Amino acid sequence: MKLILIIEDEAEIAGYLRRGLTLEGYEVSVAEDGPAGLAAARETPPDLIVLDLMLPGMDGLEVARRLRSVSDVPIIILTARDAVQDRVTGLESGADDYLVKPFAFEELLARIRVQLRRRQSDRQNDVLRYDNLTMDTAAHDVRIGDRRVELTAKEYELLELFMRHPQQVLTRETIYDRVWGYDFGGESNIIEVYVRYLRQKLEANHESRLIHTVRGVGYILRENE
Ligand code: CA
Repeated sequence: MKLILIIEDEAEIAGYLRRGLTLEGYEVSVAEDGPAGLAAARETPPDLIVLDLMLPGMDGLEVARRLRSVSDVPIIILTARDAVQDRVTGLESGADDYLVKPFAFEELLARIRVQLRRRQSDRQNDVLRYDNLTMDTAAHDVRIGDRRVELTAKEYELLELFMRHPQQVLTRETIYDRVWGYDFGGESNIIEVYVRYLRQKLEANHESRLIHTVRGVGYILRENE
């Protein structure tokens, strides 16, 4: 599930965007000013940022520059000012696209999709490796040693999450959030079920275990000790 960070001080617009994007299946967080936006982006790196230029305190252009200096996250700026110079400056500050307020929600949605797709194709050559496990994210091909492993879409997403965060404990909450995108409540054993599927497939030829249980917390991808 893609996380979009909205940096916008006008609560009405922020709320409207949050509702619309949530309905479209995005996870959304909102920051009300530049410093809060920078902190949010650092804490939980989003997949895309919608940034209003007119912010109290720190100007949106400055926020864009600072974001860009530490991250290549796509940034779409919103400006109420219909001035060519603003757009130019906005794009020079490192933003990827801009929209002039007022705009149609569908227009923003289209721009978001373009940016996310572009980012996706930039990453298409990603081959993730851990121990004897290889995941070619362009071909959706998973191998353990030379053996090809057939995974369902959810199993693949779960394994990709582990492979992008090797040797880190992933809590159940994080896994729910990133793979299923909503809260199942404490009773659900869906993670256990999917981890079991993954282990069965990854260990079908008696390969050593790579996904380990961290009791009471979650799971970790690491080599057997
Ligand atoms: Ca504003």
